[in-house]
Amino acid sequence: MTVLVIGSIALDTLETPFGKAEELLGGAGSYFSLAASVLTPVQLVGVVGNDMPERHLETLRSHGVDLQGVQRVQNGKTFRWSGRYEYDMNVAHTLDTQLNVFGDFKPNLPESYRQTEYVYLANITPGLQLEVLKQVNNPKFVGLDSMNFWIGKPDTKKDLTEVIKRVTAVFMNDSEIRQYTGKYNLFEAARYVLSLGPQVVLMKKGEHGAIAVSREGTFVAAAYPLETVKDPTGAGDSFAGGFMGQLAHSGDTSWAGIKRAIVFGCVIASFAVETFGTDGLMQMTRDAIEQRYEILRQSTMFEALTPSTATVQIA
Ligand code: AMP
Repeated sequence: MTVLVIGSIALDTLETPFGKAEELLGGAGSYFSLAASVLTPVQLVGVVGNDMPERHLETLRSHGVDLQGVQRVQNGKTFRWSGRYEYDMNVAHTLDTQLNVFGDFKPNLPESYRQTEYVYLANITPGLQLEVLKQVNNPKFVGLDSMNFWIGKPDTKKDLTEVIKRVTAVFMNDSEIRQYTGKYNLFEAARYVLSLGPQVVLMKKGEHGAIAVSREGTFVAAAYPLETVKDPTGAGDSFAGGFMGQLAHSGDTSWAGIKRAIVFGCVIASFAVETFGTDGLMQMTRDAIEQRYEILRQSTMFEALTPSTATVQIA
């Protein structure tokens, strides 16, 4: 099955303790598409300016990503993001965000996108995420990501809440879910988000993996143990690409299927962070993915925490 994604398509300028690079292909939509397309066909919705090098779009196309939903604005500038990571690479410091052509983007989905069953609303203005969701007929599974940039402003936070009420899975990292809910404890925060309607909350914890909370239980997945981490940009989008790609490929949206897809997400994210920009995603092979999946699968406790065991009180 195909996955449809709306999200930023960017030119990124990055700095980590291991290097610097300017105007790389980036954006949540691009990372997600490259990550998911190794597992399942991807339809991308977004917009670029006339300054987006054709070779970047060709990279996406050569990975089988359908770009019919990507508009090119002739007199516009592409979305730009620049960020810096210090030695604690779990925390991204945004230096600059320029929405540019995303500022007045009006998505109009091609007919062939409107029946797609798996939809991912990658990081972009919540109003645009909602607009895309309205144009898809009856999707089976909708994932949603966001970030502090949108959670921190009252009007975009309000739109984000409207989107959360309509999706199946919410992806946030620990600081984002704390900021959104105002609750420090992650399980309490996750339960609050579940009370708005989603079936599962996926909390990304960088090098410590991910925690999923649903009405059926709690699941803790470890990150793949890497010896080299060069650039964490796009880790969350790649995790989501692996997750959604596996879900769409298997068609299994049960709790067991979700748990397996989370492990796929951890594997795909490991390729993304090993090298700068999108290089790791471009180089990964199906065989290497299977090998890392098998290693993580063997050390994962798939049945560990049910709602009753996860909520035992000490006194
Ligand atoms: P991640 O590291 O998974 O959070 O994703 C990083 C990617 O998100 C970068 O390639 C950026 O271009 C993109 N990005 C950063 N800030 C925003 C934003 N406010 N809206 C949409 N995309 C963003």
